[in-house]
Amino acid sequence: MRLVKFGGLFLVSACIWGCGSNSQSEATPSAEVVVAPPMEAVNTDPIFPNSIVSNSLSFIELTDASVTHCMVLTGRETREMPGGPTNNLFEDNVYIFEANYADGTTVEVWATARFSSESAAESEAGEIAMRLALLPTFMRETLNHVILHTGDSTAFAEDLAHFFVVYEENMAFRRSENDMEETLFHESVHATMDNMYRDGDPRWANAQQTDPGFITEFARDRVTEDLAESAIFAFTDKYFPGRLPEDVTNSINLIMPNRLDFLQSIFPEEATYFEDIRAAKGCTQSPQ
Ligand SMILES: [Zn+2]
Repeated sequence: MRLVKFGGLFLVSACIWGCGSNSQSEATPSAEVVVAPPMEAVNTDPIFPNSIVSNSLSFIELTDASVTHCMVLTGRETREMPGGPTNNLFEDNVYIFEANYADGTTVEVWATARFSSESAAESEAGEIAMRLALLPTFMRETLNHVILHTGDSTAFAEDLAHFFVVYEENMAFRRSENDMEETLFHESVHATMDNMYRDGDPRWANAQQTDPGFITEFARDRVTEDLAESAIFAFTDKYFPGRLPEDVTNSINLIMPNRLDFLQSIFPEEATYFEDIRAAKGCTQSPQ
C-alpha cells in the first residue's frame, strides 16, 4: 500500500517536472519567451457521490472469509421498532431471530410481524445474518441488534444504542445490485464505531481536519457520514489489497491519508479479525 501511495505521488511529480521541461526545450529554438504551462492542481475532490450505490465497486463479497453461524427463532415479543409505518414505536409479536456465531458473538434480528409469514421473515433475517458473519469480531460484538421492516426505505443506524434498521424491499434491491454486503457494513460502522471514534476520539477529528478532502460528496455534505463513508475504503484497502482499482487506491491515499492510517489502525490485524471471545452459543435451544 505504501508503494502505491508513493508511486502515485511520484507519478504526479514526474508529470509536473517532465511536462515543464519538455515544453521549455521545444520552445527554446525560436527564442520566444516561454510561458510555462500551468501546473495541474492535485485534485482532492470527492471521487464518487457516495461510497456504495453510486459506483460498481465491489468492496466486500459474499464469498469473503466469514465466521460460521446458525440462526434460531427464539420467540415473538414486543419490541421498540423505530422506522415503522406508524407512529407507534412499539410493536407486538415481533419475530426475534438470534444469530449465533462461532466466535461467541450473538446478534438478534428483530423482524416485523408485517411479514407475510414466519418463513418470509426468517429468509430475510437469514440474508442479514449471513452477511454479518463477514464483519470482524469486534464489530459484531458491539452490534446489538438489527431491526427488519417490510417496505422500501433507506437503511439507517442508531449509534448510541448500537443497532440499525433495514427494509425488506430495499435489501432485495441492494442484493440485486450486489450492494447488500456493503450496505450492512456501512450501517454496522455507524452502529459500532461512530460513537467511539467519530464522536469521541480526537485522533479522528485531527485526521479529518488534516486531510485535504473528503472521499465522497456524501461524506463532505453530511460530516456525520464521513467515518462510515471513509471506513469502507480503508477496510477494503487493508484486507483486500488490489481489489480496488488503482486510481481509486491512489485517490484515497491522496484525499484521506490520515483517515486511512487511523481507520486501518482500528481494524484488527488478520490474525484477530475473527477472534474467539467466548464459547459459541449455538442454536440448539427450542423455540419458545
Ligand atoms: Zn450512513
